[in-house]
Amino acid sequence: MLFLYDYAFEKVTDIPVVFFKSEQIKALVLDIDNTLTTHDNPQPADGVLQWLEDVRNAGIKMLVVSNNKPHRVKPFADMLKLEFVANGAKPLTKGINYAVKKMGAEKKYTAAIGDQIFTDVLGANFSGIRMIYVKPIEHEKTMFFKVKRFLEKPFLPKSFIKSDKH
Ligand SMILES: [Mg+2]
Repeated sequence: MLFLYDYAFEKVTDIPVVFFKSEQIKALVLDIDNTLTTHDNPQPADGVLQWLEDVRNAGIKMLVVSNNKPHRVKPFADMLKLEFVANGAKPLTKGINYAVKKMGAEKKYTAAIGDQIFTDVLGANFSGIRMIYVKPIEHEKTMFFKVKRFLEKPFLPKSFIKSDKH
């Protein structure tokens, strides 16, 4: 089903590096807004820098694909020393496919991480990569997002994977 993800965690920093190893995930397509930080926030959320460092040190490739504008995405991705696609147009596959190629990854070993059902989850499924859903860090205040979040409700996970290993 197109709105389903393979895994659900409450937040990115809950995903231990050993999880990627055991699931044979070697490359990650990362969303920014409400995944790595709150919407339009120039600073990553607590623990995200260390988490990225741990993932990077484990040899897992990462690339940012965001639907947000270049002036938002570039400084954030630069700070994290990650390559990026802005105006990613998820759920369309172009940005994600570009990212997979750019990382030199194979789709079967690649997963996306994101917080939105109709962009991130749908995009990962259309592209044929795995999907790790994370809960949005904070709920958006615009009417557009309120409607979107309401429509997401039937597809949201009932439980999240917990791990002691960080
Ligand atoms: Mg997002």
